[in-house]
Amino acid sequence: MDDSLNFDTLAVRSGTLRSDLNEHSEALFLTSSFCFGSAAEAAERFANSEDYYTYSRFTNPTVSMFQDRLAALEGGEACMATASGMSAILAVIMAAMQAGDHLVSSRSLFGSTLGMFSNILTRFGITTTFVDATDLDAWKSAVRPETKMFFLETPSNPMTEVADIEAVGRIAKSFNALFVVDNSFGSPVMQKPLKLGADVVMHSATKFLDGQGRVLGGALVGSKKFIMEKVFPFVRSAGPTLSAFNAWVLLKGMETLSLRVNKQSENALEVARWLEAHPAVKRVYYPWLESHPQYAIAKRQQTSGGAVVSFEVKGDTPEEQRANAWKVIDGTKICSITANVGDTRTTITHPATTTHLRVTAEARAAAGITEALLRLAIGLEDPADIRGDLGRGL
Ligand SMILES: *Cc1c(COP(=O)(O)O)cnc(C)c1O
Repeated sequence: MDDSLNFDTLAVRSGTLRSDLNEHSEALFLTSSFCFGSAAEAAERFANSEDYYTYSRFTNPTVSMFQDRLAALEGGEACMATASGMSAILAVIMAAMQAGDHLVSSRSLFGSTLGMFSNILTRFGITTTFVDATDLDAWKSAVRPETKMFFLETPSNPMTEVADIEAVGRIAKSFNALFVVDNSFGSPVMQKPLKLGADVVMHSATKFLDGQGRVLGGALVGSKKFIMEKVFPFVRSAGPTLSAFNAWVLLKGMETLSLRVNKQSENALEVARWLEAHPAVKRVYYPWLESHPQYAIAKRQQTSGGAVVSFEVKGDTPEEQRANAWKVIDGTKICSITANVGDTRTTITHPATTTHLRVTAEARAAAGITEALLRLAIGLEDPADIRGDLGRGL
């Protein structure tokens, strides 16, 4: 497929691999292995396992279609799919780092990412310095001789902090560090980090790429050299492979990606504006509100504000704040009380007692996650109904 075609064309047309039957819709290849015509052919195909289908832990046609489509949408040369977003992060670490190496990461991170960097990688001799993603001097001064990677999540979860991808990328390049950007919250509809200097884009496909809360999946997009020479050998041998079924669901999800992301973002801006004017709300965090600290960067870097809106309710003590926040959650009848993001259905969570429960109290405080904070991931419902739903508990 011609990669110079426009985004919405690539979303429905790229990454199509037809079998001899010429099926119109992408086929679901549920097979663990592939047959060979002779011993010699088996030997040849195993020797070149990136070019042939031999075994589905290595390669599978449905997974290949997903990889090719996501690479086209992100504007990258190659993509490797993984079983989940977390296994994509593990795969990029395993591909690029070893014991003794050092990582610099934005500190306002998805809870499990923070947990992996602070509690698991340390057991294998990989240490992380966490920095305020919006403070460029902090990125610079965190670098050590053994720094191999910069990891950035923007907009961040749950505070929606926006970092300047291009500026952080320039610093990474000057220190020869691999620059990885987690694009799960934006999707390539909202921003294309590779065009802004990222070396690798990471996805939790579980979020917007599926978009309907059905399957787990993950992916890394980058240069053909890095993906095929560094990531593929790890995924092939260690096995955090995306299942063909999940790849097929994700392919269908990606066909409507821009329709969903743009509409959900539009709805989110409307809900954010309404919350900001509500007397029971202390503060709203949404990148495309003029009150957001990185509003100017978000306007320049993103095509929309995204679907995540976080806000703080009022309350004098942490106990009172928690009670008021929980009251909003328990007053809802439409919003789903669940942690997924990017779903067509609006979800509501209290990060301090759910997604960020396992993070230390100090790290929570440093990330700005108080008892008063609620996170919404806005879906496709009519925003007027969502306002009514939140208004009950407020
Ligand atoms: C969900 C998420 C992850 C982890 O992805 P899983 O598919 O749940 O493993 C990583 N980063 C961000 C920003 C996420 O939202």
